[in-house]
This record gives sequence, structure tokens and C-alpha cells, in this order.
Amino acid sequence: MRAMVLDQPGRPLRLAEIPEPEPGPGQVKLAVRTCGVCRTDLHIYDAELQGAPKLPLVMGHQIVGEVVGAGEGAERFAIGERVGVPWLGWADGTCRYCREGRENLCEHARFTGYDVDGGYAELTVAAEDFCFPIPDLYSDAEAAPLLCAGLIGYRALRLVGEAERVGFYGFGSSAHILCQVAVHEGRRVFAFTRDGDGPGQAFARSLGAEWAGGSSETAPEELDGAIVFAAVGPLMVQALKASARGARVISAGIHMSEIPAFSYDLLWEERTLGSVANLTRADGEELLRIAPEVPVRAAVTTYPLEHAQRALEDARAGRIEGSAVLVVSSR
Ligand SMILES: [Zn+2]
Ligand SMILES: [Zn+2]
Repeated sequence: MRAMVLDQPGRPLRLAEIPEPEPGPGQVKLAVRTCGVCRTDLHIYDAELQGAPKLPLVMGHQIVGEVVGAGEGAERFAIGERVGVPWLGWADGTCRYCREGRENLCEHARFTGYDVDGGYAELTVAAEDFCFPIPDLYSDAEAAPLLCAGLIGYRALRLVGEAERVGFYGFGSSAHILCQVAVHEGRRVFAFTRDGDGPGQAFARSLGAEWAGGSSETAPEELDGAIVFAAVGPLMVQALKASARGARVISAGIHMSEIPAFSYDLLWEERTLGSVANLTRADGEELLRIAPEVPVRAAVTTYPLEHAQRALEDARAGRIEGSAVLVVSSR
């Protein structure tokens, strides 16, 4: 099968012919239709994550695929069914975190497109218990970004609690989906983009943001909570400065540049700085139930599989409005 292979971090992905993966017990084999490109893929590519990925690696953890085979005991999905594969590829179900319903923090978790090969390929295998059925409303391309940008963003939104005025710092793949969910929930969204990014600000307003401006601008009102989507540590401090008493400021990314020192005054009055890590299956089920009700519409820019490198670079440069998606065999 054809795959885009990462041999070493920093080295351009290589189009290669590699052996087809075969499903083990409890796994399904999927013909990949689409695979979303995530900011995390860039962090893997740049070797910015703790630990080390499998190498060589097929990245990609927002996979929409069609079931074409099943391993021993895998009976959840029928052949031909369309399923989504997220970042959490497997959790042990037995560690203290899993037992407490926090499988996103599993000590032995395996992540798709990191510990195991993912969706930048024609075929992949996945643990069936960690796959999601995809709502019919969505095309293969539109469904892909829901699987990480959408559902880890959704987890971040839950972590800001009941905040009515929510600041989004960085308005890319994840924020453009969550903006729609937040507005649907009756929240007021204030979007911060790169300074001078007029089109990005217009995009945010088109999705229901009440206000949009550059990240160095002052919001017109205090924020009751904020999600920092951009991997830029100083934005955590910016968000604290903009926040009201009791606000929670959550980093939604897996990696961030250093957070500069700041005065305790900014944290005082029960403000909280936090992070979101990975997802639970419950997060995924909840978002995929809510998304068609909103209805969330993902803006996607598609690339053929062999242009994965270009998709990564466009995502890095902020050239994409919404989400970048590789189309492998969509119909
Ligand atoms: Zn566990
Ligand atoms: Zn991701």
C-alpha cells in the first residue's frame, strides 16, 4: 500500500510502498478515506513531544475509514461501515486513571499516528473499541477534523466550565469547530488571531464570534474563561490578563513554548491555569452526538495523500482557513 512515511523528525515525509497492516485481536482493518492533519503532527515532526514516536512512522490521527477487515473477536462494525479513529488508539482499562474514568491520562495509552501507525496511508488498523461511528451528515473530508481538533477542543471547552465570555487564542482547525459549539451553548466567543490577520478575524466572526482581533489587542470585555489553542506560551499570560475573577485558562495543545514568569496578581482571585490532555471515548461520543445538532460545519482544505508534506507546511504557516485534510480514497 502507499503511505507517507516519517523516517526521522524534521525529514520530509516520503511516499513509500509498505506492507499492508493486518488486524490483530479486537482490531479492524480500514481503507482510509480521509485523514485530518493536526497541529500535533507538526509537533511530532519537529520532535517537540516528550518521549519518542515509533519510527519509521505513519502519522495521522483523525482518520475516516471504511471497515474492510476484522481481527479475531472484532465484531462491533460491519464490513463497509464508516468509522473514525482518534488520537487515543488504546488504553489499558486497568490503571488508576482508567478505573476513574480518565482514560485520557492512561499510563499505558497508545496514540494513533505516534505509538502506532496512523492514517497517512491507504490502509490502517485500529482497536475497534476506540473507534467511533461517523454521523451521516458529514462527508468523509468534513468528518476528519472532528476527530481531534473537534473532540479534544470539546474537552477543553468543558474544562472552562460555565464561562459565558470565552476567549479563543488562535483560530485554526480546533477553534473554528469549537466556536460553533460554544455559540450553540449560548456562550459569547472572543477570538484572538495573529496580529493583522484580517481574514482570520472575519472567519471567526462568520462562525459566530462576537468579537475578533489580534492577540495583542485588548478584549472589549473581561473573559470568564479562555482556551489557548496556539502553541505560544506567552498567550497563557495574555489570557490571564484578560480574564475575570474565577476564570479558567486552558491550554488545548500537546506542546507549547515556555510560559513566561508573571505576577501572582494575575492568578489571584481564583483564576486557574490548566491544560487538556488527549480524550476519553466519552468525549468523542458526546461531541459526535452534539455536532450534527449544532450543526457544526468544518471548513476543510483537501490535499491528496502524496501532498501531506505541503499540508503540514501550510498548516504551520497558518495558510489554511479551518482544517487541512488528506483525501486518500474518498467517494
Ligand atoms: Zn489506563
Ligand atoms: Zn490531534
